[in-house]
Amino acid sequence: MHVRELSPSREFFLRLETGQDWRGEIEAFAEAEEIDAAWFHAMGAVQDAELLFYDQDEKSYESIFFDEPLEMAACVGNIGFLDDERFAHTHAVLSRETGGTLAGHLNSATVFAGEAHLRAFETPLVRSFDETTELDLWL
Ligand code: ZN
Repeated sequence: MHVRELSPSREFFLRLETGQDWRGEIEAFAEAEEIDAAWFHAMGAVQDAELLFYDQDEKSYESIFFDEPLEMAACVGNIGFLDDERFAHTHAVLSRETGGTLAGHLNSATVFAGEAHLRAFETPLVRSFDETTELDLWL
């Protein structure tokens, strides 16, 4: 297990812009505010969504696209550095009109409306390739 003690530095409420990319909005904010590490949660609604499922045997992501209005019932993620770029690792539980849910690693989604709470930390979060999982994990 990798552990580091953190001191929160800044906190924000964010309202995501309609028509923009959900993850892109969070990454653009982190870039503008020079936030090197953060944890966030969010809720709202999206017009479509692309989830990625990591196949643990194949060690590759499979993309699943949903072109329909969905509720962002719950979203959690963190911001760190991946290949020298700020990356918002984002997971989501999305719900349909029927109340049924879809869930997974959120690659992209078009915002209908979104609200987020973000807590930033001074200690940078940096990802690098992990040989065992073949994922980009924290150092
Ligand atoms: Zn993920």
